[in-house]
Amino acid sequence: MTATEPVRSGDTYDAIETWSPAQLADWQLERVRHVVAGAAGNGFYAGHWREADVDPRRLQSWEDFRRLPLTSKQTLVAAGESWTARGGNVAFSTRGTSGEPLVVWLDAAESETFIVPTMRGYWWAGFRPGQTALMQSPAWHRLAAMEGHAVLRLGGNAAYYWGSGGPQYAGYFMDALERVRPQFVTTTAPFLVSLLRRFEDDVIDARAMFDSVRSIVAVGLPLTGQLRAHLSDRLGSEVFERSGTQEGAAADECAMHTAPHIHADVCHLEVLAPDGSPAPAGARGRLVVTKLHDTGDPVIRYDTGDIAERFDEPCGCGRTLPRLKIYGRPESSVNIAERRITAYDVRTCVDADPELVGRQVLLVRDGNDGDVLNVAIEGTEHNAAAIERRIHDQLGVERVSFTWLGRARMAWGFRQVVDKSEVQER
Ligand SMILES: [Zn+2]
Repeated sequence: MTATEPVRSGDTYDAIETWSPAQLADWQLERVRHVVAGAAGNGFYAGHWREADVDPRRLQSWEDFRRLPLTSKQTLVAAGESWTARGGNVAFSTRGTSGEPLVVWLDAAESETFIVPTMRGYWWAGFRPGQTALMQSPAWHRLAAMEGHAVLRLGGNAAYYWGSGGPQYAGYFMDALERVRPQFVTTTAPFLVSLLRRFEDDVIDARAMFDSVRSIVAVGLPLTGQLRAHLSDRLGSEVFERSGTQEGAAADECAMHTAPHIHADVCHLEVLAPDGSPAPAGARGRLVVTKLHDTGDPVIRYDTGDIAERFDEPCGCGRTLPRLKIYGRPESSVNIAERRITAYDVRTCVDADPELVGRQVLLVRDGNDGDVLNVAIEGTEHNAAAIERRIHDQLGVERVSFTWLGRARMAWGFRQVVDKSEVQER
């Protein structure tokens, strides 16, 4: 049986989900050797490896693999087209929030490859043949671009509402929800929060609005456990977190919601400590992506800059695929007294209060105070001392300063760190 041959017994979609760690490591090593051998003729990688004095033909083990030098957005942007396969016909540009955007091309074969993990992830979230999925379009992310294909191939119906993830499209979404009556919704976490507010403002019964919906797959923001539970409860539908990167990382939550399982058939994901060695499971580090197919542009040991953590202990669902949580990009974090604090970390401390969960939380970058964590929270002041205590206890930060943003409601977005001047302008 091949890795991605559907099993579809119970909750499992295909065979790779329950392989032993050794079987998966051996299979991935073969893929990595194949991909590296293929990229040896690529102008950029050949030069990059020669400079580091590594011979890709000698790659026999994971130790050999880890000797390959990292690449980054900066090196690939500087390399122009020399690193690409030049055969793509679908392009995605990265957001460019950390510098110049990188354009990643997919060819038809690679698009095909990435439909399978989407089908698997949707299967885990409960999508079944005959059901209808209501999705966000246009597809702003390469993983989103696979959604329609995956839904149709699973024997379902694909529906799109007009507009994108901005809160101004909530009306179009609600209109589609009422007419299409989907069992499945895929969207962004910020859009779900915007919807809840719209329901509140217009006194709309959220559960009644979502009564046909069983599952929601949310992307774009790492969900705290409390926010996921809050959204699931308010909408009466189980919310699943999906994550990935334009460069090929892909992961989906199972029904245990312990952290997304990596789609290990398409990507090998490393989490590296500052010295470049593998960070142990349960420790944070930089997310490094290697694509496992020789389709599209080769992505080999690409340092995304994302802050991530691996969880290697078995999941209660029975799947052996390792799990990984992406906490954010460097620009969605601040350094306080030499600790890297992500907006997710602070949201965890804020969301622990049932009165506060779902409120927008921003980290405020202030050039002067390197040891003070500046947190801006939407709404009127509530239990600040308790939040501060949790930040002390959980994040080890001594000095916290709060700005309460009052009644002005802000659009939830992907950006979670702002400059001080932006908060003052509000
Ligand atoms: Zn699981």
